[in-house]
Amino acid sequence: GAKADGHNTCRFFDARMNVEAGEGHRLRQGLRRALERKEFVLHYQPQIDLDSGRVIGAEALIRWQHPELGLVPPGRFIPVVEESGLIVPIGEWVLREACRQGVAWRDAGLPELVIAVNMSATQFRRDDIEQTVIRALADSGHDPALLELELTESILIGDTERVLDTVRRLKLLGLKLAIDDFGTGYSSFSYLKRFAVDKLKIDQSFIRDLQSDPDDAVIVRTIIQMARSLGLRTVAEGVESAEIAQRLSVFRCDEVQGYYFSRPLPADDFAQFLSARSAALGATRSA
Ligand code: C2E
Ligand code: MG
Ligand code: MG
Ligand code: MG
Repeated sequence: GAKADGHNTCRFFDARMNVEAGEGHRLRQGLRRALERKEFVLHYQPQIDLDSGRVIGAEALIRWQHPELGLVPPGRFIPVVEESGLIVPIGEWVLREACRQGVAWRDAGLPELVIAVNMSATQFRRDDIEQTVIRALADSGHDPALLELELTESILIGDTERVLDTVRRLKLLGLKLAIDDFGTGYSSFSYLKRFAVDKLKIDQSFIRDLQSDPDDAVIVRTIIQMARSLGLRTVAEGVESAEIAQRLSVFRCDEVQGYYFSRPLPADDFAQFLSARSAALGATRSA
């Protein structure tokens, strides 16, 4: 009957919560040591210029190589480390490692690449963020013009004066700023005017159904037109088919990123992907 069902549902729910709480506890415990044990790794997803078809950037995306659970995606632990404050040392490691990799690829003779790094709100709002960035650039020798920080809309709202000051000081270093997941936050157009950002990353939720949902098509085309008028570049995230890439090209989107081109790859695989792709493009051009 209804009562028995309710009882069963409840027991199932409790059991599942215990599993989740247990795993959450294990994750939290492990996260404290993960940095010193060098268990974090960055994967890189190519960013492709739509006109030339060339890879012009790489977004660094963190993964946690857990000794028992395997490769843990950021969605499972970034919210936890945000809460605990661990995001600060982890975020600094990401920045330093991404800059180091950028220089390693340059030294290996790969084409010039913009390295994009995701920033968390906690990390960005710290007083020492500018110093952290300066140190990462100086210690690695990475060209500031080839570093792009990805900020979410939520970072830019609230405490405006302070954020504005940070943005100004970071821009003076010569690096680029992009707004990640554009369109999903508060999308106050005023910050586009106030903050000197360089790029809008159109959220994948608008890109996924671009071919079938006329509303998404209008939204995406409008964002691209607005960005172009404001002198900002656009990147579409989550491009999963040739048809969507083609449509974005018609809309005059600048860059694309997504599984259709490549999933995020370990650094070595990324370098191979890049060489194979430049070779293929070169062959096409000269043919
Ligand atoms: P994001 O910065 O918006 O990154 C895009 C996410 O979409 C990545 O997931 C990427 O693997 C995924 N993706 C790329 N192309 C496609 C596609 O064609 N289809 C689909 N379905 N997904 C695609 P990932 O690597 O799991 O990262 C999730 C989020 O975790 C990131 O979203 C970012 O907000 C956060 N994150 C990742 N690395 C870092 C980091 O180093 N620091 C901070 N603070 N956050 C990070
Ligand atoms: Mg991002
Ligand atoms: Mg995004
Ligand atoms: Mg995101």
